Parts: sequence; C-alpha cells; structure tokens
Amino acid sequence: MSSKAKFQAIRGTRDLLPPETALWNRVEQTAHEVFRTFGFGEIRPPIFEPTELFARAVGGETDIVSKEMYTFAVTDLTRLIAWRDFVSSTRKIRDLDELDAYERSLSYLHREVQAAVKNGQVPDDGESQNSIVRMKRAMSIAGAALVEWRKMDGTAKFEELDEDVKDAGIAAASIRVGEEISLRPEATASVCRAYIEHNMQQLPQPVKLYYMGPMFRRERPQKGRYRQFYQIGAEVLEAVRPDAGRDAAKELAKDATVDAEVIEMLMTFFGRLQLEGTELSINSIGHAAENCRRGYVEKLRGELNRVKDKLGADSQRRIETNPLRVLDSKLEHEQGIIAKLPKIADHLCDDCQTHYAELKRQLELRGVKYVENWRLVRGLDYYMRTTFEITAKGLGSQNAVCGGGRYDGLVELLGGPPTKGIGFAIGEDRLILSLQEGGKGSVAEGRDVYVAWLGANAYATAIRAAKSLRSAGFSVELPPTEQKFGKALERASKLGARFALILGDNEISSGEWALKALGTGEQIKIAEADLPAYLKEHQ
Ligand code: AMP
Repeated sequence: MSSKAKFQAIRGTRDLLPPETALWNRVEQTAHEVFRTFGFGEIRPPIFEPTELFARAVGGETDIVSKEMYTFAVTDLTRLIAWRDFVSSTRKIRDLDELDAYERSLSYLHREVQAAVKNGQVPDDGESQNSIVRMKRAMSIAGAALVEWRKMDGTAKFEELDEDVKDAGIAAASIRVGEEISLRPEATASVCRAYIEHNMQQLPQPVKLYYMGPMFRRERPQKGRYRQFYQIGAEVLEAVRPDAGRDAAKELAKDATVDAEVIEMLMTFFGRLQLEGTELSINSIGHAAENCRRGYVEKLRGELNRVKDKLGADSQRRIETNPLRVLDSKLEHEQGIIAKLPKIADHLCDDCQTHYAELKRQLELRGVKYVENWRLVRGLDYYMRTTFEITAKGLGSQNAVCGGGRYDGLVELLGGPPTKGIGFAIGEDRLILSLQEGGKGSVAEGRDVYVAWLGANAYATAIRAAKSLRSAGFSVELPPTEQKFGKALERASKLGARFALILGDNEISSGEWALKALGTGEQIKIAEADLPAYLKEHQ
C-alpha cells in the first residue's frame, strides 16, 4: 500500500455518525428506561470469549460458529506455530535438501515446544509429552538418514521415511498453543456464562439482565446485514427449584407468564419508539422428548423424504442434519410443499400444549397482539416451547428486527446448575433503519445558541455567557475567532442554531444583550440573568 492510499472501514463495518448517532442514543436511552421499569439490570460482558463457549452455546454445526466467527489464537508463540504448521503439513520428502530443511524445522519445533512446556505456555500433560517423544524420534531418524544418504549419493530411499514424517506431523498438529478466543457473534452465551461464574443462582430468582453492544459475524454484507452489528437483548434466568416438579401445572403457568412479560416489555419498547408496522409472530416448538418434538421431527423427516426430489439442495441436506430448519426456507418453489407438511402444534405433548395456551392467554391479558406462525423454529435442541420474532416495515428481505425464545437447558449445558431461560435479541441497526424509513428517525439537532461576538472586550463576556448557558444544559457554539455580524449569523443558521446571542461593545457597556431568534428574525434585548429562563421558555 502506498503511503498515500486512503484507509476505508473494513467491508461489513461502518462508522455511525452524527446526526444519526443521536437516534442511536435515543433508542438506547429508551431501552435503559423501559427495561428498568420491568426490573431488569444491565450486564456488560466482554466482547471476546473462549471460542468453545460459543461452540457449545450456539452450536458447533451452525453457520454462525462454523463459518462466521472471528477467531484468534491467544499466544505469542508465533515461531512455534510457524514450525508446527510446517512440520504438520509436510507429507513427503523426496530429496536431500528437503530432508535437511525438514530435519532442522523439526529440531527447532522440538526445542520451542520444550521451552513452552517449561514456562507454561503449552500444557505440561501426557499429550504434550507424547508429542515431544514422537517428534524426537522422527528427528533422530531424519538426522541419521541425512548423514547416511549424504554419503551414498543417489541411492537414498526417501519413501522409507513417509510413515515417520506422517507420525511426526500428527504429533506436531496435536500441540495445543493456549486457548482460542472469538469475537462474540451473540451475547446469550456470555450472559449464561456470567450467571454461572458469579453464582447468580444464589440471588433472588429470576435474574433479569439486559445488554447492548456490538456483535460480529462474517456474513455476506447487504442492506440491514453487517459484519459488525449491534444488538440490544435481555435474558431472564431462573434456577430450577428442587421442589419444582411437585406442582407441574403451576410451574408451566409461571413460565408462560414470564415469557409473556418479556414479550410485553419488548413491545412496550417498540411502542415507546413509535416503530411502525411491527408484527409479533409466536410459536411453540415443544421440547426434546419422544412424545413431543423428537417424535414430530421424525414424522417431518419421513414426509420430507417423500418429497425430497422436489426440494432444493439446502433443504435436501437438512432432512438429515436438521429437518426443522427446512421450515425456515424462503425458496419460492418450496413454499407449496412446506405448507402441506405436518405441523408441530398437532404433536406437542400435554405440558407443552398447556404452556402454549397459557402464553397466548397471558399475551391477551396484556393486550399484546400476535400472529401464530408454525414455521418459526430454532435449530438447537435446548430451545424449547416459546419462540418469537418481530418484523418491522421498510426493511426489505431482512425484515426481522428481533428474535427470541426459551432455552431451559442452556446454562446446564455450559456447566451450570439446572436453570430456565428466556430471552431475545433486537437487531439495533435494523431497528434504526426502520425508524428512519418510517419518518421516526429525526432527532433535534443544531445548537440552542450561537454566540456572535465582536471585539476583545466582548470576548471575555462571550466566554462567560457560553459557560453559564452550557452548565444550564443548552448547547452553545462559541466561534474561536471574531466574525463580522453578517458572517456570524450566516454560520449560525447553517449550524441550525435557534438563537444568536449578539455581543458587541454596545451590549457590553449597556448590560442589555441582544438575542435574535433565527427562525423568525425577531430580536429582543435581554439582561444576562434572564437569559436561561427565556431560552427554556422558548424551547
Ligand atoms: P439472532 O441472534 O441471529 O437471533 O438475531 C437477532 C436479530 O439480530 C435479528 O433479528 C436481526 O435483527 C439482527 N441481526 C442478526 N444478524 C445481523 C447482521 N449480520 N447484521 C445486522 N443485524 C443482524
């Protein structure tokens, strides 16, 4: 890159700039206010976590984890990694020069690994020791062959080394260099990790947390889809009481009520923002048991196999890996086929039916409007019962602004105690886009007061005026250099100022300041002490 090359934000990322950032602030402020009234507290987890956390929580097989994460090895063992990668990728050696380079790389690697084990950068366990022994063996074989074959000139049988090279390669590849971390692609996993780490099951239950911040996924960028995007989300976590099984019906009703309140909070938030054309879709995906979702999935798989030839490649693959995801398909020609598939609502167990009926009743009690969408699914096993999604206007194909669901098994899967969970994540970028499209994106910009001062005498007064108006909460522009009044007024209107405060020699000596309303052009005389009250009145 030449030294003059222009830097640009990386593909899929962008700068959020004023005045739009004022809208972002308004949205976030509204979330703080609304969520607080529902008893939620804010959590700010780190932006990176062990890759393993996301692999377990989101699922190693999902696109998010298998293709879209930004992952790093956390280590300064760059030389060790370079030798390891060279040795582990060497498959065959066919001449003396290659053998020479290989033997040297192996001995460098051997030395680096031993040092790293000694100072704790590579775990001192059986696996590492085994790798070191195998590498050492390959090293002495290669060293001996090198000495021997150099003398023989031309008759060396390099194939004889293939097995040893392969074994040393496997041994090298198994050397683990510290942990891998990833930028978070979502935050539910972090919230659950924090719940476990801080023993939150000992707090009054349920624990209600919300978060906001950037998430990272290496997706194909398009309108409403970015690689760094922002989510506002909330989670309700509740330790399962030992006596929870005693009154199962009551427990189910309580869960459904929690779900409904979370959804009510979400819709209150969107309502407060005056987001237009929102539609809440709900569904129940049952739970992972033979007499419920598992049985349904088998039936679905059977039906899908009967129509396999008519499905696209993605759906065909999913018949085996995750048949529920076929229901997600947006492919035009699959819609008619999907409409005829068995519906999960007809296969829910009694408990899940009770829960779903209660959820709907609770939503109605709260005046929350919804539509049912039996095709709304989540691909992972620990998701259960409630799933929901909210779409909004003006977003084209990426019209989901929020997704959520119940995930009772997740905390336990991450090594915590049996815990229930429900949560959602709002796509803030899309929420902002939709507000802007709906004409609800404008926020007050500009300044309250532009101080048009002229003369060294007036400057000291101008500084004093700016200081006292700012401390009263007004936004004030104080030009750093003297400007003729005409020029000052021009700049004041360009900046969208409501008033120009005019301070020249006359105003200073008389103590009567001049205030011009830039909208109407009306000008009044006002005393310094009366100015803040006047501005407040004329806001
Ligand atoms: P998910 O965590 O995949 O359930 O997504 C929750 C919400 O986050 C979605 O409904 C979107 O509004 C938003 N979202 C997900 N991925 C992206 C992305 N790459 N860019 C912008 N928003 C996204």
